[in-house]
Amino acid sequence: MKDLTLLIKPAAGLCNMDCGYCFYKTASETRENRIMTRETAGRLIEKIGEENPSHLQLIFQGGEPTLAGLEFYAYFTEKVRETLQADAAYSIQTNGLNVDGKTARFYRDNDFLVGVSLDGGRKTNDRYRRDKNGNSVLPQVLTAIALLERYGVPYNILSVVDNENAAEIDATYAYFKKHGFYNLQFIPYVDERAGISLSAAAYEAFLKRLFDLWYDDFDPDDMIQIRHLNNYIDILAGYPPENCAMCGVCGGYFVVEANGDLYPCDFYCRPEDRIGSIFDERPFAMGEKQKRFIEESLIIRETCKHCKYYSLCRGGCKRDRIDGLTKNRYCEAYYNFFDYALERLVKVVNRLQNA
Ligand code: SF4
Ligand code: SF4
Ligand code: SF4
Repeated sequence: MKDLTLLIKPAAGLCNMDCGYCFYKTASETRENRIMTRETAGRLIEKIGEENPSHLQLIFQGGEPTLAGLEFYAYFTEKVRETLQADAAYSIQTNGLNVDGKTARFYRDNDFLVGVSLDGGRKTNDRYRRDKNGNSVLPQVLTAIALLERYGVPYNILSVVDNENAAEIDATYAYFKKHGFYNLQFIPYVDERAGISLSAAAYEAFLKRLFDLWYDDFDPDDMIQIRHLNNYIDILAGYPPENCAMCGVCGGYFVVEANGDLYPCDFYCRPEDRIGSIFDERPFAMGEKQKRFIEESLIIRETCKHCKYYSLCRGGCKRDRIDGLTKNRYCEAYYNFFDYALERLVKVVNRLQNA
């Protein structure tokens, strides 16, 4: 096997926060919530070794993955060094509450890339992201980021966008810029059952406004990195996108739950989505169920096939596809955004290529 990407949940759905939009709370109700044991971690690394991947990406997520404790990560990284031939590229997505100096040093020493969840300044971040007592976590998150900076740990900011957060993008962008947060990722919030979601109209306005703000600041030597825009730039420059949601096909990665269960994607972790376990004989061989999951994402609706923006959009993420997986709930938002921004995006690509 050439590449292996694993999204590992060492603390399952456990978390020390209580965000209003948390989908892990409901998603993990049907699963066992406990910290991954050393035995399970050891077995996982052994099974990775049997695949002998040439590129290995290990992404720790939750719930809140730091709840597994720093000792867990020390054990894990040491075992990887002892057992595997390939170097692992590590990253972790955290709410920042457990990131102290010792943790930041560990991330630096083990080359972790850290994603910090932060929706914006006080008003925006406090809307949903609060601790279990309902208090703001913003001061703790800023302290965590300052520690990452102090120890030279690369980090990015992950923001969730719903209708209300989307309308505050001017303030959020200004806040991130003021703090020097130059690596950003925005993900739409979709959970119609919880009554919190991002409408196509709000998403379109958000994409356009964020693009304007970013474009006005564009400097090829000191660029604010925004993940979806970086992916469009890569596609226009002739490179493959790194984000599976922009590839037109679901990524061949595995979610590894704390108990060793395997799922095909973080958005598809229901009991019926389970594709196996690391305690199986060949857990990372592509099974029938995973093949079907990937094949479903290849269904392309007629409108997409004839869309002038298909090479950029590729139908979007499968979880956003509705009507028998053929139509993307954000189709109009994407289409109108490309109409609005493509000419300037192409200019950016040219400037980067000539820089
Ligand atoms: S930090 Fe993440 S896992 Fe924890 S409550 Fe918030 S959204 Fe859920
Ligand atoms: S559902 Fe979306 S995020 Fe999940 S693998 Fe498919 S494209 Fe990627
Ligand atoms: S903009 Fe709409 S029609 Fe065009 S490729 Fe994207 S989802 Fe399909």
